[in-house]
Amino acid sequence: MNYYSLNKKAPMVSFDEAVIRGIAPDKGLYFPEEIPQLPASFWENIEELSKEEIACIAMKPFVGDTIDDASLKEIVTDVLSFDFPIIEIEDQVATLELFHGPTLAFKDVGARFMARCLGHFLKQRNQTEEVTVLVATSGDTGGAVARGFYKVPGIKVVILYPSGKVSDIQEKQLTTLGENITAFEVDGTFDDCQAMVKRAFLDTEITDVHQLTSANSINVARWLPQLLYYLFAYKALKKHQKPLVFSVPSGNFGNICAGMMAHRMGMPVQQFVAAVNSNTTIPRFMQSGIYAPTKTVPTISNAMDVSDPSNFVRVLQLFENDLGTLSRKLTSYSYCDLATRATVREVHEKHNYILDPHGAVGYLGLKAYLKEHPEAYGIFLETAHPVKFLPAITPIVGDYKTLPEQVKELMGEKKNTLKITAYNQLKGYFTLKE
Ligand SMILES: *Cc1c(COP(=O)(O)O)cnc(C)c1O
Repeated sequence: MNYYSLNKKAPMVSFDEAVIRGIAPDKGLYFPEEIPQLPASFWENIEELSKEEIACIAMKPFVGDTIDDASLKEIVTDVLSFDFPIIEIEDQVATLELFHGPTLAFKDVGARFMARCLGHFLKQRNQTEEVTVLVATSGDTGGAVARGFYKVPGIKVVILYPSGKVSDIQEKQLTTLGENITAFEVDGTFDDCQAMVKRAFLDTEITDVHQLTSANSINVARWLPQLLYYLFAYKALKKHQKPLVFSVPSGNFGNICAGMMAHRMGMPVQQFVAAVNSNTTIPRFMQSGIYAPTKTVPTISNAMDVSDPSNFVRVLQLFENDLGTLSRKLTSYSYCDLATRATVREVHEKHNYILDPHGAVGYLGLKAYLKEHPEAYGIFLETAHPVKFLPAITPIVGDYKTLPEQVKELMGEKKNTLKITAYNQLKGYFTLKE
């Protein structure tokens, strides 16, 4: 399988090249040359397959011969070493909990898969030069990436985050690992962090001496393994023999786009719902056909505060850029913080289930769709554990009595960061030492 750039002005590359580069030289996103079709026998027998078997079969066409079967099996076994439970909350409404990984975020799967693929390729190439993964984070990405790449040989991770603007748990996840992980605490906003990262990638005084790569959701190795969530859900819910609807709390649209890929590979899905917060570019686009991003609006579901979602070009490509075809599979709804909070409260009172703000947006989108389509069975994705968003959640549901193990482990750990205020301090880290 080869990958081409959606800007169409760069050469085709193999999977390993696409993973190492991240983005194509013409700044386009990589997209698989063809959409693999999984055989009828796979869909018929999926209930008998383990999650590792499902993952090997579904990922194999994408990695082609860049990873041998034994190594792929080892990688997915390691990546998927936690549960992906489906909890029925109401009749015909279930949540797929994607927060049981080491950083309690669904991004764990993509980050771990990418880390292990990259580690595999560097070893295969006998590369002795270290690769540095450089990322800016507003919260969840940094933790998942830090943890995913922790102690992977040949790779260093440098993370920039805005001082005082991530939650306590998120900060601990970024700053307490040590080893090959370095955290820069930037006196500024997430946009300042992002600007510094962009500048570093273009700074030849750094790139001449360090091989930099990114680990955001545009990387194919972070994007594609997310399609597995949908296959796991299909496996569990096939017995109901009802048309399935997936509602996905969406920001950069990587997760939902992976679900749509699973559908295009042969998985029966009636509809996808892209549930967004007050950043409404996509619902407006679905209504009008006009793509008009506005200024990003801050919300309590802050991992979805995105007004120009980077993966939406991939969603369009999956439907040959035809809005008519796309709208038969994709519905998009938006919800403000007021509605999100009310839903966290209501679902807690009625069903004794605690939603996180992102999951609450997903729940709302699902309920809106099911109202019009009562024949369907609905699944909304819970993308983060509510404990990561305590300031928004505790005023509604009260204090947490039992903290997850992943949080308890962090409690006694000491934060270790390099505080910076300006780009030159980041540059100095790369160019002055050694
Ligand atoms: C990243 C993130 C999202 C958005 O996912 P996309 O793939 O960018 O659409 C939703 N919820 C949480 C908790 C996240 O961390």
